[in-house]
Amino acid sequence: MATDYDAPRKTEDDSESIEALKERVPDKLSGSVDAEDADNPSGFELPGADLSDLELDVVVLPAQEDEFTCVSCFLVKHRSQVDHEEKAGLICVECAA
Ligand SMILES: [Zn+2]
Repeated sequence: MATDYDAPRKTEDDSESIEALKERVPDKLSGSVDAEDADNPSGFELPGADLSDLELDVVVLPAQEDEFTCVSCFLVKHRSQVDHEEKAGLICVECAA
């Protein structure tokens, strides 16, 4: 999970993690609704394991198809804001100025 954050060519993997995230969000919501099952230890394990995973994905996924994450300021910018690409990834016009 902690690797490949700065591999901009893996756009397919990014979209897959977004899809996975969409499927997990309802689990998180239903987990909080299941408060009446709090006495049930078996219902307590899954949300705990998924949540840590979920938060990691949220940090990684911001760049959409028409967006990119500048490797200098780490902000998500529109593709039109790309100035140039370095080995580490794309640099936005503001950082290149
Ligand atoms: Zn930048």
